[in-house]
Amino acid sequence: MSIFGVILLEQRIQRTYNFNAGPSALPLEVLEKAQKELVDFRGNGMSVMELSHRSATFEEVHNEAISRLKNLFSIPDNYEILFLQGGASLQFSMIPMNFLQSGQQAAYIMTGSWSEKAIKEAKLFGEPYEVASTKDENYNRIPSLSELNFHDNDAYVHLTSNNTIYGTQWQEFPDTGDVPLIADMSSDIMSKPVDVSKFGIIYAGAQKNLGPSGVTVVIIRKDLIEKGNQQVPTMLKYSTHSKSNSLYNTPPTFGIYMLGEVLRWVEENGGLEAIEKKNTEKAKLIYDVIDESNGFYKGHAEKDSRSLMNITFNLQSEELEKKFLAEAKARGFVGLNGHRSVGGCRASTYNAVPYEACKALADLMKEFQQANQ
Ligand SMILES: *Cc1c(COP(=O)(O)O)cnc(C)c1O
Repeated sequence: MSIFGVILLEQRIQRTYNFNAGPSALPLEVLEKAQKELVDFRGNGMSVMELSHRSATFEEVHNEAISRLKNLFSIPDNYEILFLQGGASLQFSMIPMNFLQSGQQAAYIMTGSWSEKAIKEAKLFGEPYEVASTKDENYNRIPSLSELNFHDNDAYVHLTSNNTIYGTQWQEFPDTGDVPLIADMSSDIMSKPVDVSKFGIIYAGAQKNLGPSGVTVVIIRKDLIEKGNQQVPTMLKYSTHSKSNSLYNTPPTFGIYMLGEVLRWVEENGGLEAIEKKNTEKAKLIYDVIDESNGFYKGHAEKDSRSLMNITFNLQSEELEKKFLAEAKARGFVGLNGHRSVGGCRASTYNAVPYEACKALADLMKEFQQANQ
C-alpha cells in the first residue's frame, strides 16, 4: 500500500459522535461495505437498488436477511418474519385492523407517546382500554407486573418495550397466557436476547437498531395470521405478505440489503449476548456520571426502569441545558437534544454507537460539571 492509502484511511474515519434517536448511527463497517459494493453488487454489474426484486440475486439477499434475523434472535419455527413498509406507525393501525373486531377489547399498557399513538388507532376499530398508565409521572417508569390487570377475553395485550422519548425500558415482560402479547420493539430490538415465544407479534421500524428507515420488521406467530380479519385491504393484511414472502409488491430492496448487513455485523460482533454486554457497559458510563454528579445531572427515568438505548437527563436549569448542548455541539456531538415532551438531553446509545463515543460523552459531562457547578 502506498502512503496515499494511509492518508485516505485517516481521512475516512472522520465520524461524528452520533447520538441521534432515529434514524441513528449505523456501523461504520457496514457503511463501508455498502459503499464498496454500491456500483457493482456481487459481480452483477449493477447496484443492489437496480436489481429486479424478483431476481435470484435479490431473493438471496432477502432470504439471507430473514435467516440472520431468525438465527440471531432465536425465532422459533412457528413464526413468520415479514419486511413491510409504513414504519412502526402503520403497525399501530394494522394490528387492530387485523385483530380487533368492533365491540372487542384489547389492553394497551401505557408507557409513553408511542403507546398513546398506538391506542389512538385501535379506537377506530374496537374497544381498547388503558392498563397501568404512568402518564401522571410523566412516564418516568415501567409499571410493575403486579399493576397489570387485564380483562378476560382481551383480543391482545400491547406494550412498547423501550420508550425512546422517556428513556424507560421493560426489564421483564408480563405473561399473558393465551392472550397474544404484542410488542412495539422499534427502539430496542436486537439490543439483547428476548424470549420471542412469549409474544404473538413483535414489530419494529428498522431505523433505530437494524438499518436505514423504510423497512419495518414484523415477527408474527403463524396461527395468528390466518385468524386475522380478512375484510381488510390487501396490502394491510398480514396474510398477503406472509403468502408471498414479503414480495407481494416491490419491497424496499436497498433497506433490506442494509438490514442484512447490519445483522451480519451483529453476528460478527458475537451475537446478542455480546451486544447486550457492550450496550450495558456503554450506558453505564453515562448513568454513572449522572449518579455521581450530586444532582448536577438528573436522570428522567427511575433506576429500575432505565433504558440501555435512550438515556434521558436534565440539568438544573434550562439555561444550563442550553449551555451544555451548545458546548457538546461545538465539540462534534450530534443528537443530544431531549425530545420536546421531556426536555433536557437524550443520548441514544443504540447498538452501532461505539463505546468511544459514549466514553467521550461521559468525559464531556464530567468536564462540564466541573466548569459549571
Ligand atoms: C421511532 C418509533 C416509532 C415510530 O416508527 P416509524 O417507523 O417512524 O413509524 C414507534 N415506536 C417506537 C417505540 C419508536 O421508537
